[in-house]
Amino acid sequence: MKAEKEKKKKIIKTIRIDVDKCNGCRACEVICSAYHADPKYSSNNPARSRIRVIREPLRDIYVPVYAGEYTVAECAGRDKYIIDGKEYDECSFCRASCPSRVDFKEPDSGLPLKCDMCEGEDEPLCVKWCLADALIYEEREEEIEEEVEEEVEDLEVGLEALAGKYGMQKILDTVARMSKEG
Ligand code: SF4
Ligand code: SF4
Repeated sequence: MKAEKEKKKKIIKTIRIDVDKCNGCRACEVICSAYHADPKYSSNNPARSRIRVIREPLRDIYVPVYAGEYTVAECAGRDKYIIDGKEYDECSFCRASCPSRVDFKEPDSGLPLKCDMCEGEDEPLCVKWCLADALIYEEREEEIEEEVEEEVEDLEVGLEALAGKYGMQKILDTVARMSKEG
């Protein structure tokens, strides 16, 4: 099947983090965990937040880090960060929910947490609650090309499975009957 490409507009959401402005108040962690509590706002627990503030008070640094993708395996190689001459732990600023750390895991179930940009809200709540303006929400529109073929392939896989179960003739008869009824 030949791939067809379709141009679509997509809104890319980003949160710019100004580390110099973050004072480590953790308001972002509180509101994120409260918003995602079940029922909503019934509790707050920063351990359930999809943003964690990496605190290094002795070294005078607070870095907000957003929960990214889940990974089943930890990295074989790690990165060390040196900022202003100070060295930071290898995994400190990583966004992954990964087996080698406790961050970005639901404390009770161990299920991975991921920032969903507060889907359904006009603006991410952590941005609204950051009175220090360390978190800045931005949106931009990008044109992307999507392959239509994927949907067709999904349909083919589904039809093959049905044909394997009921036989192709029965599928064709059913489709013919449905089109007459429709
Ligand atoms: S709410 Fe803002 S200032 Fe407070 S910890 Fe979060 S990012 Fe930092
Ligand atoms: S954008 Fe929403 S889901 Fe993501 S960290 Fe901020 S409050 Fe949590």
